[in-house]
Amino acid sequence: MAEIRQDPTTREWVIMAKDRARRARDSVPGRVSKDSPIYSPSCPFCPGNEEMTPPGVLSYSDEKTGRWSVRVFSNRFPAVTPEGSTTRRLEDSFFLSMDGVGIHEVIVECPEHNKTPDAMGPDALTQVLMAYQERYKALSRLPSVKSIIIFKNHGPRAGTSLDHPHSQLVAVPVVPTETRARYDMAIRHYDDNGSYLYMDLVRQEQQVGTRIVMESDGFVVFHPFASKYPFETWIVPRKREASFGHASGADLAGLAEALHETLTRLHRVLDNPDFNYVLDSAPVGDEGKEYYLWHIRIIPRLTEIAGFEIGTGIHINTSLPEETARAMRDV
Ligand SMILES: [Zn+2]
Repeated sequence: MAEIRQDPTTREWVIMAKDRARRARDSVPGRVSKDSPIYSPSCPFCPGNEEMTPPGVLSYSDEKTGRWSVRVFSNRFPAVTPEGSTTRRLEDSFFLSMDGVGIHEVIVECPEHNKTPDAMGPDALTQVLMAYQERYKALSRLPSVKSIIIFKNHGPRAGTSLDHPHSQLVAVPVVPTETRARYDMAIRHYDDNGSYLYMDLVRQEQQVGTRIVMESDGFVVFHPFASKYPFETWIVPRKREASFGHASGADLAGLAEALHETLTRLHRVLDNPDFNYVLDSAPVGDEGKEYYLWHIRIIPRLTEIAGFEIGTGIHINTSLPEETARAMRDV
């Protein structure tokens, strides 16, 4: 069983999961492109190979073909597992740890092995987002779950081990230090100003305008003022809602449009780049509190993290968000 340990010098949590080293990998993990085959016999995520994965916990089907369009199942090599206790242990009267209890799932986004992110249309993406939310809601009801992290790794530099388009969901019994810091900052902003940090941020970006990539009725897409990475892109809803679990069906359809357009622009400007995206949401249990605003952060993996970043936590960004946002607008 995995174990979750706390670094006593920073209060950061670390998951010790030895078994994950055995996880399935493509022989040469890559990145799907238009030249990849539509089906790969050895791919556990391709249609027809379902027995290579654990049984599904959710699937949507395509009305036209009658086959599945999105599939969700437990990760075969999970970072955390459902069994165990969330009671903290004090080891050697000093170190804090607990069982690595949680849920780790895989969301296969489409049957086609070779669909690049830009080729996922708004309708297909809406289904993916609906699957994210359905699992988010189900898992947030588990008493042990305190945070649900939904993310996508596209390409080897983003840490993917299987090419087939997929994302992952990890539900853990702790609130990550970074989530806690963002949430606390939003509360402090409210205390100081009586207004909401993320609403103020979006309004400010709209007024300045130079870092805006695109706007739709429901969403604003921009490159943040202090972007840590070149082409770091945020997609933020206009409607104040702390938790992704509370987004409406119309919100998900609007997000799918904005995400499709953003990924298409990234694909064109950077030629199918490796990237991660992460869905940020309020900690489980704080969904009803109004300070936070759920959003998506996309991080293209164009540069490596080096000694300075590791040593300081200060990132050196070699491009200006005003210029990268303009490149995204002009493409
Ligand atoms: Zn496949």
